[in-house]
Amino acid sequence: MKVLVVNCGSSSVKYMLFEMDSEKKVAWGLIECIGLPQAFYKRQTINAEEKKEAVKVINHTEAVELIIKELLDKKVGSIVGIEEIAVVGHRIVHGGDRFSKSVLVTEEVKEDLKDCFSIAPLHTPAHYDGILAVEKMLPAIPSVLVFDTAFHQTMPDYAYMYALPYEFYEKNHIRKYGFHGTSHNYVSQRAAAMLGKPIDELNLITAHLGNGSSIAAIEKGKVIDTSMGFTPLQGVMMGTRCGDIDPAIVAYLLDEYPQYKDGSTLSDLMNKKSGLAGISGIAGDMRAIIQASDEGNKRAVLAFEMLTYSIKKYISTYYGILNGVDGLVFTAGIGENSAPAREAVCKNLSALGIEIDAARNGECSSKERFISVKDSKVKIMIIPTNEELMIARESRKVLIQATNVL
Ligand code: AMP
Repeated sequence: MKVLVVNCGSSSVKYMLFEMDSEKKVAWGLIECIGLPQAFYKRQTINAEEKKEAVKVINHTEAVELIIKELLDKKVGSIVGIEEIAVVGHRIVHGGDRFSKSVLVTEEVKEDLKDCFSIAPLHTPAHYDGILAVEKMLPAIPSVLVFDTAFHQTMPDYAYMYALPYEFYEKNHIRKYGFHGTSHNYVSQRAAAMLGKPIDELNLITAHLGNGSSIAAIEKGKVIDTSMGFTPLQGVMMGTRCGDIDPAIVAYLLDEYPQYKDGSTLSDLMNKKSGLAGISGIAGDMRAIIQASDEGNKRAVLAFEMLTYSIKKYISTYYGILNGVDGLVFTAGIGENSAPAREAVCKNLSALGIEIDAARNGECSSKERFISVKDSKVKIMIIPTNEELMIARESRKVLIQATNVL
């Protein structure tokens, strides 16, 4: 069985085709800058080197058309006929409180997805366009939606509510949703496999640390809290996002600075000009920050310390609400690759039974592995995330369930 995973952004389509018997990716790529003169198409297969070329693509439908044509290409394609694709899995950033799990696309589901436009206006309309484009190009193939927010839907109300007047929750659906759910789900399952125990016997903290970062507290396989909130701005400090700040600062800036009179300018400040970039004045990229720190740049050192301290605070809090933890997982760009960041996060947490092994942590490897000292109470793991594979698995599962019901 083959599953096509599609991730549509406002001006891009990314895809990955999986052979599910082996769970291996067989073709992958992306089309970026859709509708712009600089649009390009980059793709690769297990049998062919990466190819990149300029393309003229005016909308998502044309982008999907181009991808399908290439997949079917007699010379470099990965399928002989469209019917080889059993199901298409779409990554959806925000499912609001309407979607608590992956669903098969129906007319009703598409209508409900439209209701989520207002809470993720940058992403959801693009996802919707992508769904229509796939339906047009592959009308006989079922589609499944897999939501970044769904894995966090198990949070109790006292964790996901904000202490604002209740009507903002009722009318505007303002509550914590959490993000990177597909990644937290994937790495928590892998962690259970590495620890050799069923997931429902484990307490885990998963730290997805990339340009955007979030931490999740997972009790017996179910998220009980996570650091991102109504939007992916809340939580730990990130590459260009401020994370948690005193909300009164927003009111202060609105009152004091005429240039911040509207929400989108302030949102731009907090999402794109803050975090590592805002503090260091250098970049939002961790590699650049570490290099500048090594060269003695004081603001880069401060940015690094602030970011790792904010992660440490969440881990300590989640240790408390979980009442003990079996495993701590690091994943995504920083979590998988930055030994100094992992070391700083875990430093002085031995009272919680979190003890990192310097040599194991410093090893250069892209494989999943343990990095705690042998008798560390909490096992520390690096697990490369694989959101696309998780989406492919979910899509196959939903398809099989639906086929059994029909
Ligand atoms: P992601 O959003 O998961 O792609 O992660 C991007 C972040 O990972 C950026 O801040 C990168 O600087 C960081 N990153 C990637 N590779 C490394 C590395 N080898 N060392 C330190 N940071 C890294």
